[in-house]
Amino acid sequence: MPKYIFITGGVVSSLGKGLAAASIAKLLEARGLNVSIMKCDPYINVDPGTMNPFQHGEVYVTDDGAETDLDLGHYERFSSVKLTQDNNITTGRIYNTVINKERKGEYLGKTVQVIPHITDEIKKGIKKVGAQKSLDVLIVEIGGTVGDIEGLPFLEAIRQFSLENKREDTMFIHLTLIPYIKSADEQKTKPTQHSVGKLREIGIQADMLLCRCEKPFSASASEKIALFCNVHKEDVIQGLDVSTIYEVPLSFKKQDVDKKILRRLRLKGKKSKIESWETNVVNVIKNPTSTVKIAVVGKYITLQDAYKSIYEALTHGGIANRVKVEIIRIDSENVNESNYRELFKSVDGILVPGGFGTRGIEGKILSIKYARENNRPFLGICLGMQTAVIEFARNVCGFKNANSMEFNMKTKYPVISLMEKQKSIVNMGGTMRLGAYACKIAPKTKAHQAYKKTAISERHRHRFEFNSEFKNKLEAKGMIFSGINPKTKLVEIVEIKDHPWFIACQFHPEFQSKPDKAHPLFKGFVTASLKK
Ligand code: GLN
Repeated sequence: MPKYIFITGGVVSSLGKGLAAASIAKLLEARGLNVSIMKCDPYINVDPGTMNPFQHGEVYVTDDGAETDLDLGHYERFSSVKLTQDNNITTGRIYNTVINKERKGEYLGKTVQVIPHITDEIKKGIKKVGAQKSLDVLIVEIGGTVGDIEGLPFLEAIRQFSLENKREDTMFIHLTLIPYIKSADEQKTKPTQHSVGKLREIGIQADMLLCRCEKPFSASASEKIALFCNVHKEDVIQGLDVSTIYEVPLSFKKQDVDKKILRRLRLKGKKSKIESWETNVVNVIKNPTSTVKIAVVGKYITLQDAYKSIYEALTHGGIANRVKVEIIRIDSENVNESNYRELFKSVDGILVPGGFGTRGIEGKILSIKYARENNRPFLGICLGMQTAVIEFARNVCGFKNANSMEFNMKTKYPVISLMEKQKSIVNMGGTMRLGAYACKIAPKTKAHQAYKKTAISERHRHRFEFNSEFKNKLEAKGMIFSGINPKTKLVEIVEIKDHPWFIACQFHPEFQSKPDKAHPLFKGFVTASLKK
């Protein structure tokens, strides 16, 4: 049986529980341990796939096609864990299972209740991931904030879980906030005391506190927190703001978080090998040789989290080139005929990310037109590829009002169309083309130059596809179809012949990029943008 670390959060949301969980995984992996991470989300949606990005930020897709919380992206970027649907459970998923069982009569006449039936199902979900072969530690992040009504069954489940196991087999880490009150010039510990107290009411005693703070707090503040929260003083960890998220594991390491966890869980680890992360990731981010400006043209630009993996993958592309990527966020709804030349004049590269719905489409098409006509390196992702095809069809092939059937069902030139399989679908949740699919890359193309291989696998999340009926016509005008699904023959990557670097893909390369192993397309895109 592996050891279990449960991570909860208090005081306010958005303190970075996911990053804390990912950082701890990184530290433990650096000590030679085999780690996995999962997230329990207390909302009632079965998965975040049906949620608007403004509500929930990015939907992160795993190889097996699960639409998951964006924290899973942090888990995969920081560590070598491979995640599946099992690594993200929600209240909706748990209730769905329990209600289905009830309908089948599996509870044998019992009254089905939150305790024990819902809590049992949660524990089962946790144990299922814990049963992975040769796993040393499973980190379980509980979403939301202590005190939320929705989170209670999860907290109750992990309380029971710790009780059912030996003390050294489970531990609780609580992430909290030590706010700085400017007028009093003081850092306040009371919210943390309340939050840890709230956890104790539920029957959970935190073993370690990760205290987020803008400024370091004093030893006496640490003592006070320890005393009032019933934790050892050395287990009060300062979660000081850092200049890059990739520095969080190093900041924890300096405070011996890994050593303290190993001791608490009675685990033996090897000598830490975290140095390469410091040299090859953090130091490179902090000391770039130059800057490259990349415009990201999307409709959820105002929201920090909506294109999380894309922003991170751009940073990784920067690391691979030892430069800083300055991201210029452009709201596609504000791009029009009168301003688009001015908007893109000073950028080095243009990226159009994925998306759904008509809003902002014409602005994206104009941005792509600019990139194509002005030799700006361009990377189109999912809807970014679909709009690149529309732009090419309209402006190069002269197909007036060419469009995707997502936006115009009656267009004479449906260059992007609905897959046959998708036509009969009525339910919205979990029914897109999801997860990893193979793609074959044509030799002597820009894609091949980037990947340096011909067989790749990339993750998808879309309903619409390139309409192969138009392939020959577009090809004749200089579009290259450089990536094709070997089984279905669907188009996965397109390029433009007479352009320094114009690549658009139907899949989401950003999901497989890591800080110390930038995705080839992001690396290549940044390299090309540097040359501009
Ligand atoms: N809306 C498009 C589709 O469903 C693109 C989806 C995306 O960009 N993820 O095919």
